[in-house]
Amino acid sequence: MPRRTKIVATLGPASNDEKTIRGLIKAGVNVFRLNFSHGSADEHILRAATVRAIADEMHTPVGILCDMQGPKIRIGAFRNDMKIELQDGATFCLSSKIAIGGGDQDAVHIDSDLLKDISVGDILLLDDGRLTFNVTSRDDFSVTCLVVQGGVLSSKKGVNKFGGGLSAPALTEKDKADIKTAAALRTDYLAISFVHSKDDVEEARQLLLAEGSRAHIIAKIERAEAITEEFLPGIIASADGIMVARGDLGVEIGDANLVAVQKQLIEAANTANKVVITATQMMESMITAPTPTRAEVFDVANAVLDGTDAVMLSAETAAGKYPIDTVKAMARVIEGAERHPLAQRSKHRIDQTFSRIDESLALAAMYVANHLTGVKAVICMTETGFAPLIMSRITSSLPIYAMAEKHGTCEVTTLYKGVVPVPFCASNLDPKEVNHRAVETLRAHNVVADGDLVLITKGDFVNVHGGTNTLKIVRVGDVIQ
Ligand code: PGA
Ligand code: MN
Repeated sequence: MPRRTKIVATLGPASNDEKTIRGLIKAGVNVFRLNFSHGSADEHILRAATVRAIADEMHTPVGILCDMQGPKIRIGAFRNDMKIELQDGATFCLSSKIAIGGGDQDAVHIDSDLLKDISVGDILLLDDGRLTFNVTSRDDFSVTCLVVQGGVLSSKKGVNKFGGGLSAPALTEKDKADIKTAAALRTDYLAISFVHSKDDVEEARQLLLAEGSRAHIIAKIERAEAITEEFLPGIIASADGIMVARGDLGVEIGDANLVAVQKQLIEAANTANKVVITATQMMESMITAPTPTRAEVFDVANAVLDGTDAVMLSAETAAGKYPIDTVKAMARVIEGAERHPLAQRSKHRIDQTFSRIDESLALAAMYVANHLTGVKAVICMTETGFAPLIMSRITSSLPIYAMAEKHGTCEVTTLYKGVVPVPFCASNLDPKEVNHRAVETLRAHNVVADGDLVLITKGDFVNVHGGTNTLKIVRVGDVIQ
């Protein structure tokens, strides 16, 4: 049975070359993430072209996700780019009066717009939470902090406020320019960082459409505000999927809250028919070690059991020593987790009513797939990927083969758990031939054999979006029409 949970791997200096990309795809990468926090537009365009050429050559649909940098809030630089060491109990200032590159042992630059969101008593976290400051006083130009947890601080490190609330629009000028690059390289997915509300998603959508791109948008959930009742439902509804961006989110809400929040976010996405990626530090120790820790094994496995579509690798594949081994280990751990009954059964939406024909039919197909003995595969003829998306919200032990003709549809379904994209040209076939050919395609790959049952869903017409209205159950080896 193919692995259901997908792997997103970030490209970077450790993995940009053709040989490594080929090895990563072979090891199980389904989607490559191009991280726009690093690298130039030309580099990303070249990377995307390389990935696509190799994926074509390997006959393996692979998705591309362009991840925008967003308004990561940072301190200025230290003089001569030096590092300072702050002792616990020391005093340190963040000030808009200090020049951007003029930081020293006592103070460093911060943007004046950010200062207005900081009050006495706030806890500031620097460098992904490695240092903790308590704000003790402030004036119009600076805040003075007591260093609660000291350490080494270097130029341009990130600043988060515990509990959230440092305001900055999600889309910076750099992001807007990068969205054009992402559209130009025909990205399948666009990830927006530090999303605050659905307005950020809608703005990104407009910018993409203006460039002629229909890329699916992933809202990265990494701000405390984004998980509130006020903003989360709107963000999920307006995006095509979310990322549980545990790095920044953990800093803002505290690591103890991450566990419950990850489970809630994954469930909320699944219920809303959206995809979800679980990200950051999943195999962190493999940046320098050839095997994962037991804790990492369980982290990946738990995300699978929580129902995530995909797990993501960041520095492990972008800058680590063992990019291919990391993907192999991740794939192995996912397959192990998927053998647990929790990863195979579903009670999802069993007692609900639906308004859409294609949605009801897709769910009915999965009910049959999970309850009729002898079914080995589900074939889903799809135009836009919507039907396999809905089907893949249902936990199952059976693979869903998304057969699509239109360019980009297979690539989009690379992220959906349990879905195997299969390029399939139906429009040139006699309609009576389509089912037979589809089943033969699976038989040719030894996925099914004579006597197995296969479910087929499709619409009356090819090239119609949302037209799935037929469910057929066929037996391999019989005359199939
Ligand atoms: P980043 O996002 O790697 O772009 O910061 C993911 C996260 O914050 O977890
Ligand atoms: Mn982040």
